Amino acid sequence: MKQEQALLSLEAHDCANAIPDLSKMIAAVQALVAQCEDLKLKYYEEMDKRKKLHNIVQETKGNIRVFCRCRPLSKDEVSSGQKCVVDFDGANDGDIVITNAGTSKKIFRFDRVFTPKDDQDVVYADASPLVTSVLDGYNVCIFAYGQTGTGKTFTMEGTERNRGVNYRTLEELFKIAEERKESATYDLSVSVLEVYNEQIRDLLAMSPSKKLEIKQSSEGYHHVPGLVEAKVENIKEVWDVLLAGSNARAVGSNNVNEHSSRSHCMLCITVKAKNLLNGECTSSKLWLVDLAGSERLAKTDVQGERLKEAQNINRSLSALGDVISALATKSIHIPYRNSKLTHLLQDSLGGDSKALMFVQISPSDNDVSETLSSLNFASRVRRIELGPAKKQADTVELQKTKQMLERAKQEGRLKDDSLRKLEENLQNLEAKAKGKEQLCKNLQEKVKELEGQLDSTAHSQITSEKQQRQLSGKLKEKEEMCTALRQKIVELECKLRKPRQSDSEVEILKQMIKELELKLKEQEHDRSAVELKTKEMELRLKEQEHQRSVAELKIKELELKLKEQEHQRSVAELKAREIGHELLETQRTKAMLQIKLRDLESKTNVQETNMTLDTAIATPREAKSPPFSGEEAMSEKEKHILRSSNSLNKQQPPSDKSCVADGPEAAVSEKKRKGDARNASIGGEQENNAPAAGQNVGRKRSLPGEREARLKRKSTEPPQVKNLGRSTASSRAAAAATHKAAAPSSRVPRQQPGGTKTRGWVR
Ligand code: ADP
Ligand code: MG
Repeated sequence: MKQEQALLSLEAHDCANAIPDLSKMIAAVQALVAQCEDLKLKYYEEMDKRKKLHNIVQETKGNIRVFCRCRPLSKDEVSSGQKCVVDFDGANDGDIVITNAGTSKKIFRFDRVFTPKDDQDVVYADASPLVTSVLDGYNVCIFAYGQTGTGKTFTMEGTERNRGVNYRTLEELFKIAEERKESATYDLSVSVLEVYNEQIRDLLAMSPSKKLEIKQSSEGYHHVPGLVEAKVENIKEVWDVLLAGSNARAVGSNNVNEHSSRSHCMLCITVKAKNLLNGECTSSKLWLVDLAGSERLAKTDVQGERLKEAQNINRSLSALGDVISALATKSIHIPYRNSKLTHLLQDSLGGDSKALMFVQISPSDNDVSETLSSLNFASRVRRIELGPAKKQADTVELQKTKQMLERAKQEGRLKDDSLRKLEENLQNLEAKAKGKEQLCKNLQEKVKELEGQLDSTAHSQITSEKQQRQLSGKLKEKEEMCTALRQKIVELECKLRKPRQSDSEVEILKQMIKELELKLKEQEHDRSAVELKTKEMELRLKEQEHQRSVAELKIKELELKLKEQEHQRSVAELKAREIGHELLETQRTKAMLQIKLRDLESKTNVQETNMTLDTAIATPREAKSPPFSGEEAMSEKEKHILRSSNSLNKQQPPSDKSCVADGPEAAVSEKKRKGDARNASIGGEQENNAPAAGQNVGRKRSLPGEREARLKRKSTEPPQVKNLGRSTASSRAAAAATHKAAAPSSRVPRQQPGGTKTRGWVR
């Protein structure tokens, strides 16, 4: 027991000795935690910087990039003696040359050119930076365009031994997600659909679902309600999904390629990311599209259902060209809704999203016309993106057009300036009008005050007059008494003169006379006091009348001022209306100028294109050689796409114009309405003021007798008299309220599944 106790006490001592070390360790751990937090913060900052830099790099490369890929000649083509018409000498610089019948040559330049020798991994390596963008929260769209049989499906899907962009993209998505698992979590889901004859078909649905439509969510992104979204957690699941979609794809046959797809096959990968360091959540979409063949109808020799398919394909591909063109020219209206294809891709085309187009071509001389057509379409997309300003060549005609363009721009700027000045003027006038209104209100208040004073003066005058009347009544009474007393005195004196009367009587009578005389004196004293009071009252009355006439004068002055103010205000409003008209005119001219500008720009573009073509053809060998036989037909298609694009562009100005015209017109009509309301209120005021003014004149000219009658009338009808004055004020207040209501904002700115079985994926 003792030994155990000793051992325990030893352990207890050791423990006690270890405590200082423990606190040191705790402090060290805390320091490490703080360091860790600091590092996390720095890491987050760095990640943010990386994201931004990556995006800048992608944007510098262009948000719409075009890669050209040429497949090798197939065994059949070689055996049938077909020749390669594609020259890859400048492929490293992005140049590709098409030779027709060994004579004429046409050069095209793209962001990247892949030769038949380039493998799937080489092709994917250039597309992979976009995958990082998807994980960073950007929408991306990769699509393959070209004639049937040129390798679109090969590039996008690939084979089990030679995987394409789709599979490799998903593989990389999982790889990067795994690398970033410490800092972020990613949820990936895949949808596979096709657009066939302008109808959406869900390729992952087990049974045909009801008609699928594109809807816009409240957050603004586009989605297809009822579409199967297969949640994928590893690459094996991805491959299963891709296979299922590929097998379900609608296929048709024609004499170009028996198994060519006549629909757009679309793979949509939705990435929901959560940043574990700052809790930030993003949702982005990656569209991988294998477009239907771009070949023209004549070549495919089709009828009936196949003809309808081909027409729909042509229409949607034209719509795609129009959307890309509108995006590149930064047009206000992007015609996304012209086809199901562009409507579905709306979130991933435009804005800060990134698009990559693979233009697939055949090397065979048999397909040269279609090859040129595809390359023309793709170079239009690329040329627009890079902008015509980069071209160096210049001619006199071009110079002239440029000068005209510059002049038109200058004019536009001048119009803008005058527009701005007019707007400023309008604002100033509005501010002035507001000031005048305030002044009017103040004056009206003063008038009300003075009218109140006038009323009280009239009231006190009435009471004074009453008092005066009472006093004069009393005076009369006293005078009557005096005369009575005088008569009595006279009688008594008569009596006194009679001799028969005794002395005592005389004495009594004398006494009486004295008393009466005393009384008389008293009465006279009273009378003089009453007379004094009456005089005083009369003086006061005069004073009050004087005050009243002064107040009336003031009211008249104020009313005159009020009228002047209102006149000034109406003049200002007239000016504002004039300015509004001018504004409208200026904006109309501006819109016209913009249309002119656009015309000129398109002319410049066409001229530059022609020039480039001329430069391309004007090699010594080409000059002698005859033109392409298939080029005219191809440029017809190009023209068709351009025409549809131009027709859309042409449609923009009216909407633009209407937008421009709406603003000022609405503003002017608003002003007019305001002015009308104001005029109405002014008219109302004048009508109301007229009797009041007449009354004032009457008041001034009335004689004292009339005045008494008037005062009597006033005292018997005070509410009516007051109401006259008040109704003027209240009508003004009502007019002001109407005016306010008529102008809520003084300035108008000048500047909107059920039932379907799934393959076990989440819908
Ligand atoms: P599309 O989808 O444009 O109609 P496909 O992808 O079906 O064309 O390709 C037609 C044929 O050409 C396929 O047999 C395909 O394997 C082959 N092919 C296409 N591109 C290449 C390439 N780069 N290398 C080898 N074979 C290719
Ligand atoms: Mg295909």
